[in-house]
Order: sequence, then C-alpha cells, then structure tokens
Amino acid sequence: MRIADCGLRNEGEPRGGPTSESSADDGSPLPASQSAISFEVEARLPGGGGRAGRLTLPHGVVETPAFMVVGTQATVKSLTPEELRGLGTQMVLGNAYHLYLRPGPDLVAEFGGLHRFMGWDGPILTDSGGFQVFSLGFALEHGVGKIAGIFPGEDARAPARAQRPKLTRIDDDGVTFTSHLDGSAHRFTPEVSIAIQQRLGADVIVCFDECTSPLHDRGYTARALERTHRWADRCLAAWTRRRDQALFGIVQGGAYRDLRERSARFFAERPFPGYCIGGSLGKDKADMHHILEWSLPLLPEGRPRHLLGIGDPADLFEAIERGIDLFDCVAPTRLARHGALYTADGRLAIKAARHARDRGPIEEGCGCYTCGRFSRGYLRHLFVTGELLGPRLASIHNLHFIVNLVKAIRASILDGRFATQKAAFLERYRGGRAGAAAGAGGSPA
Ligand SMILES: [Zn+2]
Repeated sequence: MRIADCGLRNEGEPRGGPTSESSADDGSPLPASQSAISFEVEARLPGGGGRAGRLTLPHGVVETPAFMVVGTQATVKSLTPEELRGLGTQMVLGNAYHLYLRPGPDLVAEFGGLHRFMGWDGPILTDSGGFQVFSLGFALEHGVGKIAGIFPGEDARAPARAQRPKLTRIDDDGVTFTSHLDGSAHRFTPEVSIAIQQRLGADVIVCFDECTSPLHDRGYTARALERTHRWADRCLAAWTRRRDQALFGIVQGGAYRDLRERSARFFAERPFPGYCIGGSLGKDKADMHHILEWSLPLLPEGRPRHLLGIGDPADLFEAIERGIDLFDCVAPTRLARHGALYTADGRLAIKAARHARDRGPIEEGCGCYTCGRFSRGYLRHLFVTGELLGPRLASIHNLHFIVNLVKAIRASILDGRFATQKAAFLERYRGGRAGAAAGAGGSPA
C-alpha cells in the first residue's frame, strides 16, 4: 500500500479474532495476497537452523539475514536517508516509546506516517515500548541495560549502576510509567501500544511485552511470561492494519529452558507473521546461544525471526547459524560517537595518539564513504577537537561494517562458505590487532 493510503483508514474494518483469518495451508494470518508480509527461505545451512531468505514488506524487500539500523527518534543519529541507502541499509527501526513522548503518534500521522515524516521510504519496524518500560524499571534497579551490562556476568560495572529507583509500575492490565523527559505520568496497555504503532505506520510492529531482567528469579520470570502471553493475545485482537502492517510476537522466558519452550510454542500456535526473541538473554553469551537453540526450532520455519538488540559481530554469526533472520542494535552508532570503530582486526580507538600521523583509512579495502576519503589522522583530529563531522563519519563506517558483514554472511550461506567464513572472521576479529579492546572502545555505555 502506498504511504499516502496508510493513515488509519483500516481501523474501521471488521476484524477477526486471533485465529479467525488463519489459513489452513500455511498458518499465515491472512491469505498471502492480502498479507502485509511474505517470507521465502532461499537457502539453509547444512544440518542447522541458519538460513538466507527474502522478506517482502509494504515498503520493499529485505534480503535476510539483515541488520536494521536503529533510528530511535525517527532519525539514525546524524545520517540522512541517502547516506543510509549508500551504506547498504535495507530496514530501519523506530521506537514507539520515544515517538509517543515526542512528537506524538498523532503528529506523525498528520505527516502521513513515519516513512514520510523521516523521509525514509524503505521498510521500518517499530518496537512496542516494552523494552523502554524495562529500561525505566528494573534495569535501573538491577543495573542492567541493553548493550553494556545486558549480560551482567560479563559487566563488572553493573553493580555501580544499580539501586536507582524505578519509574514504572506493572500490573496485569498494563504499565504506568513516568516520562524520562519531564516526569509526567503515562500508561501503556497492549491496546495503547498497538494503537500508537498503527498510527506511526511502520511495516512491522511488535507486541507489547514485559521484558524481564537476567537477575529476576524463575518465579517472577514465569509470572511475567504469563502476562506477556495474555498481552500478546490482546495485541492480536487490537491489530487492525493487517493488510499493510505485520505484527511480530515476542518470545520471552529469560534463561529458563521450559519457559522459553513454552513461550515459543505459545507464539507458534498463533497467527503472527513473524517473531522476535526478546527479554533477558541470560547472564552470558552461552546462555544466549542456549535460548536460541531452545526457542527457534519450535517456531514455524516459514516466518522471520528477529533477535532484539544484539549486534556484536561475533554474536551475529552465532545467532544467524541458529536461525535468526533480523537484527537491530544501537552499538554501531553509539560506539562510533565514542570513537570506537569496527575493523576486521577488532575495534580501533580512533582517539589514540598513535593515529595522529596515520594517513591510512580506518580500514584498507573498506568501501564506505569515510574510508574512501579520509585518513585516521584526520578522523582523530575531528574527535579530539569535538567536531560534529567526526561522529558522522564514524557512524557511516561502523554501520557500513555491520550491515555489510551481515550481507557477507548471507552470501556465504548462499554459496556454502558459511563455516569457513565464520572461522576466518572470528579468528582475525578476536585477534584484536586493531588494539582497541583495552582502550576507549571497550564500552559503548
Ligand atoms: Zn569504512
């Protein structure tokens, strides 16, 4: 559907219950000709769950696996849509919580929806606000965040950030929270989150869920999971723009095998066009691998899976190998703004004095605009003097690196070189010859 047609005109359409429109043949929520989404698996890894595919959405095709860039405030910080296209971006993520607070979904709808408002005509996903509620709540209490500290066992700084008062109150109907901007009170329910996302108009919207912390015990995680499941059915019932928006469910359950399996089965039985793996991914990377291995085989093969908030280069290989199709993560741009740059030899801290006279690019052979034109010495100068161009050029390079790494992984699945490419990449990347691991690039916080 054209953007101009989006608006809210579908809201008055009769809607079926969660399963009333199911197709008996493929389990999709609508006949393919009427659905906002189609997904086709093109190639699979031998003996594993990994695959390459094509995801067709109202605003274009996404070749998967794919990394979507994060545009929290309806902008990928400092970059234009043309620059995003130029570095290979296929899909952008917007944030329902932040856009609800500013400028508000009604204002975005007045401009014809998020695509027109931000000048990006490709596919967009909005998240539901559930994670931001998590961030305002026990993430402050428990000292865990989405990037630094999402795996508390790997972040020695976590305790220092703990024990701040939470700004949210969760009940069975929804969440009351305090705006981080002005302290005003707000309330999200599943219906409110879906209504906001429908007004924003992204190609993919996601269920409103309760995102638990790695430090929550099994009892709390189980209760939160049941609430998330009840909310998912309410999201399905509230989802009316089925012909031009796809609603993804979010599999939760923390690092508990039975809960993850229960959640995957719950979502697999419902007519969601796709799925996210969300919430606590455990205390370390091994937990995350187990969570993917428990959850993904239980989800329908023919629907896309998005791993929320993960984008470390090594994690991309591991998650793709286990069957993840879509990623988003703020790390590439956040690290860039701190002068931490991805290279095949690990992260490079551009502010280090040793780069002052370096006339070479960030990375030899990189096809990005930044590396084609500027030296490490000049980039270091921009960062040392606090010039705006520094973070912009660094963001272009880091996003180019991650987006095209995932494209290269996709190509390796198609031509049967995945295992050798993974081994070669990880050996060199972990070798860390770029030498940033102990420097400014060590933390994105
Ligand atoms: Zn580059």
